[in-house]
Amino acid sequence: MRYAYCILRYSFPISLTHRSAVECRPMNNPQLSVVIPVYNEEQGLQALFDRLYPALDKLGVSFEVIFVNDGSRDRSAAMLREQFQQRPDVTRVVLFNGNFGQHMAIMAGFEQSRGDCVVTLDADLQNPPEDIGLLLSKMNEGYDYVGSIRRQRNDSLWRHVASRAMNGLRERITRIKMTDQGCMFRAYHRHVIDAVNSCHEVNTFIPALAYSFARNPTEVVVGHEERAAGESKYSLYSLIRLNFDLMTGFSLVPLQMFSMLGMLIASGSGLLFLLLVLRRLIIGPEAEGLFTLFALVFFMIGITLFGIGLLGEYVGRIYQQVRHRPRYLVEAVLEQSVKGEK
Ligand code: UDP
Ligand code: MG
Repeated sequence: MRYAYCILRYSFPISLTHRSAVECRPMNNPQLSVVIPVYNEEQGLQALFDRLYPALDKLGVSFEVIFVNDGSRDRSAAMLREQFQQRPDVTRVVLFNGNFGQHMAIMAGFEQSRGDCVVTLDADLQNPPEDIGLLLSKMNEGYDYVGSIRRQRNDSLWRHVASRAMNGLRERITRIKMTDQGCMFRAYHRHVIDAVNSCHEVNTFIPALAYSFARNPTEVVVGHEERAAGESKYSLYSLIRLNFDLMTGFSLVPLQMFSMLGMLIASGSGLLFLLLVLRRLIIGPEAEGLFTLFALVFFMIGITLFGIGLLGEYVGRIYQQVRHRPRYLVEAVLEQSVKGEK
């Protein structure tokens, strides 16, 4: 398995280090890996470094920090290189050669991670790195998946409302229990990470995917601050797409609901037809009601188009998946060579 992993890894372009297959996962794995996706975060990165490293040093566990640069077009990649040079013993940097999205960046971080426990953290300091200890102490209690609930969410009002609505919908149509699905600050046990790494989903929602492999999940309340600098990288469009990934990736209920709705409408129309036949026999032919008919027809067309669109969401994802294209391309991995390497 590890061997296959190595081949996969080196089938991608340049890697700055060379390791033989057996050395891919050295004996002295750190206790903690922190995976951080970075996309155009030059304004906030220095503040992140200044808070993250002291917080991790204080924990008293061996750790590694894996930054994944998701094709930033600003100075982020250069800043990550500099940081790697400052703390090469505990820092690894994966550089993508394009923007593949936050979840693909985290996937790449997972594949590189070696820790017994992996924590994902956003680069914008919305979740305080000082709270990583909270997640770890829950893991030490024997949980293998620690989700988080934002104490006081500092996002715009519409994000608040939309997120609550999506949480409610997800709760109904999937078997995934998360109080706060939007928060990526989570801790995963190595066995959950290995299971996630064995999936090759093109469109996915990592907290939900990992949840489906956890044996003993729990949640803790963590702090939430306003974005330290820069703007949210999620537009309304990308948020809608992400929520479709969550719904279509973990449930067939939306499709089934359409079959139910179809049956309901068909029976309703049958009844209406009977009623009209009776009316014609008793009262006589119906002449008016043209606009009611229009309204009804447009309503049905609306529902039909929505149904076709929903079907398209599933079919599109199947199409992307079956093409087997690489999910992301790694341009380079910056990491310190392990002792014994050539
Ligand atoms: N991010 C990424 N690729 C993207 C979009 C975002 O790697 O295409 C990273 C971003 O740099 C940040 C994290 O994902 O570290 C969360 O993004 P953001 O803070 O913009 O999301 P929000 O907090 O608004 O949900
Ligand atoms: Mg954020």
